[in-house]
Amino acid sequence: MQKVALVKTKTYDRNEIYNNIVKIFGYFGGAEKFFSRGEKVLLKPNLLFARRSGEHVTTHPEIVHAMCRILKDIGCKIVIGDSPGFSSAIAVAKKCGIYDSVKNFGAGFVNFEKSAEIKINSEERIFKKFEVAREIIEADKVVNLAKLKSHGQMLLTMSVKNTFGAVVGLLKPQWHFKAGVDAEFFARMLIELNLAIAPAFNILDGVYGMQGNGPANGEARELNILAGSVSSVALDTVAAELIKVSQDAFYTGRVARKMKLDGAFIDDIEIAGNKKEDFNISGFKLPQMIDLQWPVLKSIRRVLRGFSLPEPLYDIKKCRFCKICFEVCPAKAIDLKTGEYIKFDLKKCIRCFCCQELCPFGAITVKESVFDKFRKIFNNYK
Ligand code: SF4
Ligand code: SF4
Repeated sequence: MQKVALVKTKTYDRNEIYNNIVKIFGYFGGAEKFFSRGEKVLLKPNLLFARRSGEHVTTHPEIVHAMCRILKDIGCKIVIGDSPGFSSAIAVAKKCGIYDSVKNFGAGFVNFEKSAEIKINSEERIFKKFEVAREIIEADKVVNLAKLKSHGQMLLTMSVKNTFGAVVGLLKPQWHFKAGVDAEFFARMLIELNLAIAPAFNILDGVYGMQGNGPANGEARELNILAGSVSSVALDTVAAELIKVSQDAFYTGRVARKMKLDGAFIDDIEIAGNKKEDFNISGFKLPQMIDLQWPVLKSIRRVLRGFSLPEPLYDIKKCRFCKICFEVCPAKAIDLKTGEYIKFDLKKCIRCFCCQELCPFGAITVKESVFDKFRKIFNNYK
């Protein structure tokens, strides 16, 4: 049975965060049970985009600071790394404040660039190998420091999705391309990658999360969730429960349940610390996407593709023609004329929503499909 520790946390006050993370480890026998003197520990925060910490796009610097303090006291060597969608981990860490907040701990920063292979010897796994950042493999332990946010493609990004940052930048589009419009395939890959990396511990920063047009351009939302677990899957199951999102609605939760993973079922998880009822969160806003996997035959879906799939929606008033969407689109489905327009070739578009995720100005949102509009109306009248 998996365990998740919850500590209701009101602010990012340095002492409050440190004490509460120590408390979280306490429910698992203390941080010393997981880490030993001299070990090289890699911290993997969410460094999606270069934004100030108050925008809650990235894991908050105080979470990283607290983790560094705990590891330093044990005598570990600390490395902090990620592979942001655009720009470098160091540039993002500087902008969001992580770089400055941990400089006294002597932590090294690394932008994941070179990869090495993890082989998986398990009949139960579909993916038999992953190319991940060399630093992940070289570290003795990995600590996953995720942020709770809404997500245009997966609905939510939390602990499982955060380890996708272990895939170096150039290889990420290949995974999107392999998955195509099959979001469950992508979710399965995210889960199996997370299990292959096997973080020693996972902390979820939902003191403030992001709702709406996440993961980069949504609204900050106070949630008071600080949680930890050995299992990313269990952590996400509990966090989704707290924000009242059904396990079948977000893709990694749904697929984890299909895989019958330990930690995918709320009733089978031991919750330590605060109780679920201590968090009274309602109305968490999700992106305008519902279901890329509606159950009709594939051939019919192909014909009805225009009606059944959500689309990227562009707001020219917000666009500054920075070209990031054009550069990150794995399907080369974007046509851009600087100062004039951006057009999406919806026949090529694989609905990965990397453009929506990485647009720095919130000029791209997810447009609900016609099918989903009808389905919502139908559900309201049932
Ligand atoms: S839509 Fe966003 S990412 Fe694309 S060019 Fe405009 S501002 Fe840049
Ligand atoms: S246009 Fe946007 S959603 Fe479509 S494939 Fe390109 S990045 Fe993905």
